[in-house]
Amino acid sequence: MRKISIIGGGQAGLLLGFALLDKGYSVSLYTDRSPEQVLNSRIPSTAFLFESTLATERELGLNFWEDLVPYGEGMHVDFRGPDGSIGLTVQGRLGDLQGQALDQRTKFSRWLQEFPRRGGKLVIQAVSVADLEKIAAESDLTMVAAGKGQINAFFARDDERSVHSAPPRNLAAMLLTGPKLTGDHPWKRVPFRPLRFNFIAGVGEYFSLPFYTHTRGECRSFLFEAIPGGPMDRFQDARDGHELLEIARQVIAEFAPDDLHHMEGAELTDEDAWLKGAFVPTVRKPIGQLPSGACVMAIGDTAVLNDPIAGQGSNNAARMVRHLVARIVANGNAAFDAAWMKDTFETFWDESASYTTAFTNALLNPPGEPVMTVLGAASQHPPVADAFMRCFDNPRNYWPWIADLDEARRFVAERTEERCAA
Ligand SMILES: Cc1cc2nc3c(=O)[nH]c(=O)nc-3n(C[C@H](O)[C@H](O)[C@H](O)COP(=O)(O)OP(=O)(O)OC[C@H]3O[C@@H](n4cnc5c(N)ncnc54)[C@H](O)[C@@H]3O)c2cc1C
Repeated sequence: MRKISIIGGGQAGLLLGFALLDKGYSVSLYTDRSPEQVLNSRIPSTAFLFESTLATERELGLNFWEDLVPYGEGMHVDFRGPDGSIGLTVQGRLGDLQGQALDQRTKFSRWLQEFPRRGGKLVIQAVSVADLEKIAAESDLTMVAAGKGQINAFFARDDERSVHSAPPRNLAAMLLTGPKLTGDHPWKRVPFRPLRFNFIAGVGEYFSLPFYTHTRGECRSFLFEAIPGGPMDRFQDARDGHELLEIARQVIAEFAPDDLHHMEGAELTDEDAWLKGAFVPTVRKPIGQLPSGACVMAIGDTAVLNDPIAGQGSNNAARMVRHLVARIVANGNAAFDAAWMKDTFETFWDESASYTTAFTNALLNPPGEPVMTVLGAASQHPPVADAFMRCFDNPRNYWPWIADLDEARRFVAERTEERCAA
């Protein structure tokens, strides 16, 4: 039986581990925290997963919370001026591509317990580069899914594919529960349970998503993406989640005042339900060569780390896992050498991750004319809005029109004609 080792017990590492166990591989997963430590840590993320990712988890029987987590059924987006005034509103449904957001503490601690039950070998260890040498010597293939962990510095930055040299946003996130945040229609003017997006020109963005955590059940996540040095960039000195929540109230009062009443009675779901910080989105060379000459491969955020603005990191990890499993199986008993790793990553980059990265980077900048054309039409025509939102499930579907005005006009015309014909 071929032996595969994975470093990192997050979205990419665990999902790949389960998928390979399912295919009959011998899988060892090394991660730096026990299930209990993960469960009792601060939230690392507020990841929302679209249907394609949920389907992968479902196929592997990992959807333990599917009936508990509220579905995000679509997006309600306000594009605002720097004073908070609304310039454009777009509301679209995800339809059968709706998604869910589950606390990663809840999920990964449970998945880590499940992994040995399904025959995987779980090792709780913070892996160093020296450890990698030993692990790689004992494995047919070693993959590093350490997220933003320090070990990813072992993989060189790809300067051509990495467009950022500093964090594009300073981030703050929290999980809140409150009387005006949960339920089927928490936003009265929205006829479904929305992902609530606010894009505030020159200031930043704030996102609020239906969410589930083991500590309180249904709740909502709030993620603030502040342009560094701008008027929303005031979260980073907060000393705890309570201070973060107070700043959030002020920011919403200033930049999205019509949302403020949702914060009445809102409180943190638990003392650890917050995060703050910043990072530099980075695409890395996927192959790391150890002193012995053995090669290991980067996956997930370790390979392609994007800003969370487009909600794609975990979804990208799941797409990558599907690609990797197909390539690993197709390789049969041949060596997992540097050529295999390069080809495997490059095909994924060309088919998927390059689009995810370009879409994410596009959202960090003011929209260009093609996007404005589609958004303008989407604000008037629900089928255009629905089509726009459904592309979040796979950002490749934003092309070609996202970068081409004629294609954008065609995209709009096709959707509005479809409606007339219906
Ligand atoms: C605020 C925020 C909001 C987000 N929102 C979304 C969203 O809406 N949708 C979406 O798809 N994505 C979102 N993301 C991104 C998403 O959370 C990540 O892309 C995803 O978790 C990446 O999975 P991963 O397995 O690569 O890394 P991780 O999930 O970070 O897992 C890495 C694991 O490796 C472990 N580790 C690190 N170093 C070592 C080591 N040396 N040895 C052993 N173990 C190690 C870590 O402890 C961790 O368990 C968001 C991220 C943030 C920060």
